Amino acid sequence: IVQVCMPLNTLGFVFRETNDALVNVERMFAVLAGDSLEHGDEAADEDRDEPDAKPLIVTTGEIAFENIDFGYDPARQILHGVDFRAKAGATLAVVGGSGSGKSTLMRLLFRLYAPTHGKVTIDGQDVRYVTRRSLREAIGIVPQDTVLFNDTIAYNIGYGHEKATRADIVRAARAAQLDEFIERLPDHYDTRVGERGLRLSGGERQRIAIARAFLKDPPIIVFDEATSALDTRSERAIQNEFRRLAEGRTSIVIAHRLSTVVDADRILVMEHGRIVEQGRHGELIAKPGGVYARMWALQREQGELEHTQRKLAAKP
Ligand code: ATP
Repeated sequence: IVQVCMPLNTLGFVFRETNDALVNVERMFAVLAGDSLEHGDEAADEDRDEPDAKPLIVTTGEIAFENIDFGYDPARQILHGVDFRAKAGATLAVVGGSGSGKSTLMRLLFRLYAPTHGKVTIDGQDVRYVTRRSLREAIGIVPQDTVLFNDTIAYNIGYGHEKATRADIVRAARAAQLDEFIERLPDHYDTRVGERGLRLSGGERQRIAIARAFLKDPPIIVFDEATSALDTRSERAIQNEFRRLAEGRTSIVIAHRLSTVVDADRILVMEHGRIVEQGRHGELIAKPGGVYARMWALQREQGELEHTQRKLAAKP
């Protein structure tokens, strides 16, 4: 069990070190934060819609990537023939090294970019021809690192949901297992957080994002699992909250932890913008010499090594 919960990045599976990547992801999630755009941006949003764009109608929440080619720059193709389905109500995990194209897939789902070939659909509707607003409303996001405002914890949970009442916020906080923590704070839900207030841990910030997502209650959830080492306990706890959030919704996880991957209904293994393997954990580890099977074997070695090191260190 200890091994299963080791972060995959201990074996260099993920290097999210460049500032560039971080800024990019931050920006992407800021743009995607939901119905929370400043006034005026919404108009800009509509301007960017296709002329006859229709609101997305989510029936089951099935997502399909159909034969996608894509490059940010025509001279450099990033995704090559990417083709997969995220089944309604199921959890799809995407794994792969840095630069393999995981975040790019999410950007295409959110229609921040359009593929050069192929299409992305939600319940059969090409995301290119739906309104951006309806697309944003359909998808909830739990980013790796949530930006907090210098305001109260209630404001931070309710951010993007101006109509949420205090009772809604408390309910969302409960669902994200934040309620007890908040009740212990000096001013409870009115405690100020952020740079100039109480500093929250990575796990607590991610729980705020989970609470926001509960409040939004979208049919589709994207979870960008934190690569930074949360301690094992908070890591497992976050996964539980996430699982609860994912229940009954289509969810896509950019996964960095084996425990998440093992539980997924389907795993996509990305390498250099291609899906090199897909299937369930059991199927993938059974492939001799497979990419995923190698990751798993390495990871276990790493786990055993750390286990031994810990045992040695514990000896007087
Ligand atoms: P990581 O795990 O490091 O976040 P990733 O698998 O999410 O990586 P992507 O961010 O999707 O990888 O990047 C895939 C490729 O696309 C990389 O080669 C990257 O340099 C390139 N890329 C990403 N964003 C842009 C951009 N805005 N403009 C140009 N190229 C980009």
